[in-house]
Amino acid sequence: MSVRVLVAGASIAGPAAAHWLSRRGAEVTVVERAPALRPGGQAVDARGVTREVIRRMGLDEAVRAARTETAGAHTVDADGTVLETFRADDHEGDGYIAEIEILRGDLAQVLVDDTRDGVEYVFGDRITELTQDADGVDVTFAGGGRRRFDLVIGADGLHSGLRGLVFGPHDRFVRHLGLVLAFYSVPNEFGLDRWVLEYQDQGSGRCAMLRPIQDATRAMAMFSFPAADFDVDHRDVPAQQRLLRERTADLGWWSPRLLAHLDDTPDFYLDQVAQVVMDRWSSGRVGLLGDAACSASPMSGQGTGVALVGAYLLAGELAAAGWDPEVGFAAYEERMRPFVEANQEIGRMHVASLGVPGPDGGPGTGADAGGEPAPEPDVEALTALVDRAINGVELPDYPGVPDSRAPARSPG
Ligand SMILES: Cc1cc2nc3c(=O)[nH]c(=O)nc-3n(C[C@H](O)[C@H](O)[C@H](O)COP(=O)(O)OP(=O)(O)OC[C@H]3O[C@@H](n4cnc5c(N)ncnc54)[C@H](O)[C@@H]3O)c2cc1C
Repeated sequence: MSVRVLVAGASIAGPAAAHWLSRRGAEVTVVERAPALRPGGQAVDARGVTREVIRRMGLDEAVRAARTETAGAHTVDADGTVLETFRADDHEGDGYIAEIEILRGDLAQVLVDDTRDGVEYVFGDRITELTQDADGVDVTFAGGGRRRFDLVIGADGLHSGLRGLVFGPHDRFVRHLGLVLAFYSVPNEFGLDRWVLEYQDQGSGRCAMLRPIQDATRAMAMFSFPAADFDVDHRDVPAQQRLLRERTADLGWWSPRLLAHLDDTPDFYLDQVAQVVMDRWSSGRVGLLGDAACSASPMSGQGTGVALVGAYLLAGELAAAGWDPEVGFAAYEERMRPFVEANQEIGRMHVASLGVPGPDGGPGTGADAGGEPAPEPDVEALTALVDRAINGVELPDYPGVPDSRAPARSPG
């Protein structure tokens, strides 16, 4: 009988894990708290090794078909004068705007569509209780169902409920970096074509950004602002919108026009910029993946990469270990840790470079931060760090491990 795996969360990490686990021979169920796939979110980038994972998934074409057609980004001043330009083909497609850039919601859709036939998806439910014994895990769901699985994977994001049930309270693992981010779509009444516009209010550390989406019929607005603490519930949208209005009311550029659309947007998302730091990502038959285990924060630009690479390694190592959770989870974690740490370092450096005060109003997240922008880092060390964050993890081929889909081989 094949191994039965329950995955919590159907965003990026969950469906990617479902892909690889079922390809390795497991029977997979994904439970998602939201009633349907959640749209929205900013564009996410696939760089370096993440592109290779997408290729091995056989999704290169589907992802490219759904990607944004962003030509690059202009930073602008309050009057809209261009200050600096970054092009999508800079740094061989791995730059600030990556060559493969796709809206988070569109990527989730590609991943779920790809797995829908072989994977059981249950929307509108979540795990409320879980008991492990030597052979399996008994799970109780909020909807009243009770089922038994061999393994359970938490891919339920920064606010992971599964992590709370098995590893301990949120506060123990989540490090707020002193910044809040909000995203929502608006009509493209701004005449945007293929360029992202970004306005930074240097004095206050706040930022507003706008990018065209859906063939430039609409645009995605983004705001970021410092917030020493964050106690708004991540599901309380009206409270989140009040906070955004309060903190950005006097922000220049097109901000007032963007804020005017808050009441009619279909896809508002706001969250703290935070990282998850844990000593271990597994306990017995339960393992964590993606933001739930090791969020590097959106400021790393690599949350999706970490989720996709982690899904590949988690399934590969578990299958290679004959589904022994102790051996499989340990091997996955050992491979992932240095990659995650490099991305978390970049996330902290990015926040520090904005001069954002730390949580509690104290010094920020960078070694020298204290409300002032950090000094320019050593270029060679920074280049090496970026390379580790993009490419610093090996993707074994797992010869001898079952693979129900003929893997796409590198040409030659
Ligand atoms: C709607 C949305 C918009 C986002 N927008 C952005 C963005 O604009 N920029 C950015 O950098 N990052 C954004 N993110 C986060 C980004 O997707 C992740 O950082 C990254 O892609 C890693 O993905 P993940 O699958 O680990 O976590 P997430 O993408 O956070 O996904 C977690 C999933 O688990 C579900 N879930 C939560 N609790 C439970 C539970 N108890 N049981 C079952 N399911 C549960 C959530 O509904 C969600 O679908 C967004 C996430 C979501 C859900």
